[in-house]
Amino acid sequence: MVVDESLTKIVEKTVKRAKWKGLSVVEVGDPVLRKKCQKYEGQIAHETFKKLLHAMRSCMLSKPGVGLAAPQVGLPLSFAIMEDHVAGAKRKGEGAQIELREGGRMEKARKDDREFAELPFLVALNPSYKPITSKKAYFYEGCLSLPGFQAVVGRYLDIEARWEDEGGEEHMKKLHGWPARIFQHEADHLCGILYIDKCITRSFSSNDNCEKFLFPYSISRAKKELGFSPQMKSDEA
Ligand SMILES: [Zn+2]
Repeated sequence: MVVDESLTKIVEKTVKRAKWKGLSVVEVGDPVLRKKCQKYEGQIAHETFKKLLHAMRSCMLSKPGVGLAAPQVGLPLSFAIMEDHVAGAKRKGEGAQIELREGGRMEKARKDDREFAELPFLVALNPSYKPITSKKAYFYEGCLSLPGFQAVVGRYLDIEARWEDEGGEEHMKKLHGWPARIFQHEADHLCGILYIDKCITRSFSSNDNCEKFLFPYSISRAKKELGFSPQMKSDEA
């Protein structure tokens, strides 16, 4: 694919502006988030693309987030970045046990239901996935394009993830648990799909209420208090 000079100029300007005030993330309702993205074939000049990826990573880490897809910065092109570290999760206190008051008795809940695993910084061009088994994990997730909210989404627990790197080389990796969830969320973005299309709508909660009622630390508690179950099938797109 030949470099698109006018697109490169636009991205170059965006990246320059981002140096001062950071990249802005497109919010839900913008049609760019609902487009099927164009295959990425080097439409942005290499140096500019590298600067864009750097700006996207700074933006993602500052929010903080664990993934950012091109349409979230206004580009209907099929690429995304992802990154999450187990060490970071541990620092935030994940993996510890917390106590929840459940009908007068204390219930122990583990904070590591997400099946955290290391996901080193990944630039995925034209990513796709397919489930290895039909088993799904139900957990809260959010999106930088819908700030302030989270909902439970059923995601395949094990997937075969495919993508190309910046050099055009193809990769395939089996992902499990939290990294598999991140990959599915970002690859969905590139097909115009948001997590709210797949979530159990009754689980939809503000971040504040998620913290207040500790829903992400006990899905069973969230199910009981908000009245939902995975059998509701509202998670199926
Ligand atoms: Zn998202």
